[in-house]
Amino acid sequence: MTDTRVAIVTGAARGIGAATAVRLAREGFAVAVCDLDEAACADTVETITKDGGTALAVGVDVADTARADAAVARVAAELGPPLVLVNNAGITRDNLLFKMSDDDWDAVLSVHLRGSFVMTRAAQAHMTKAGWGRIVNLSSVSALGNRGQVNYSAAKAGLQGFTKTLAIELGRFGVTANAIAPGFIATEMTAATAARVGVDFEDFKAAAAREIPVRRVGVPEDIAGTVAFLVGDDASFVSGQVIYVAGGPRA
Ligand code: NAP
Repeated sequence: MTDTRVAIVTGAARGIGAATAVRLAREGFAVAVCDLDEAACADTVETITKDGGTALAVGVDVADTARADAAVARVAAELGPPLVLVNNAGITRDNLLFKMSDDDWDAVLSVHLRGSFVMTRAAQAHMTKAGWGRIVNLSSVSALGNRGQVNYSAAKAGLQGFTKTLAIELGRFGVTANAIAPGFIATEMTAATAARVGVDFEDFKAAAAREIPVRRVGVPEDIAGTVAFLVGDDASFVSGQVIYVAGGPRA
């Protein structure tokens, strides 16, 4: 790999993205902590810098091409060429199919699929130029189907095809692309789901854990560790794969 070790993590103000940014900083990367609201990235940046690492807060709506291009250009100018991209930003707009609005469909597809597409298109220019790069996309066990998530499951399944095609197109330039499909991870996203269905989050987690073979729900660090593996030298021959990190074959 080159001397420049710069990673972009989207949706890194909290949850899985924040844990991933912190972990990649510990692995020696300068990390662009990207999220919708630049000010919301402050906690993640502070955690990294207090630990002796380098981080830059970047406000970006990944679904907006102009802002995504500008964010990647800013990272390249202020930290160096980004050679690692973790497409983690995500939203849910759950509803049963017959009640799902066009807006709920478009919003979810836009952040997950279009967002990953435009961020990757911008970042790959730096990776292919350097002859080295790592792309990690956040899919989900919901890609296998999940009641109330026809938009989200379509986006997460779409990301798996996106990942495999990136692997095929970019491999010759030294760039790998892989997807991680988490099961139940305790974050604000799953807390919001519990609130929406009117269940206390602790009870919600306990019920989920009973269905998971390893008998616990996941934590953001479980995913951050898998990202660290995929962007590290041990994974240089791993590309186009989907790794389910769910405490079992599916959560
Ligand atoms: P989270 O706690 O809700 O965090 C997601 C972050 O993404 C938030 O900071 C959010 O910002 C940001 N974001 C949303 N839209 C964005 C946009 N257009 N541009 C930039 N940032 C945006 O979610 P999480 O649980 O950590 O999930 C992270 C990823 O893992 C997502 O892709 C999710 O689908 C996936 N995943 C999660 C689970 C789970 O159980 N938690 C399971 C499978 C897959 P705001 O706060 O401003 O909205």
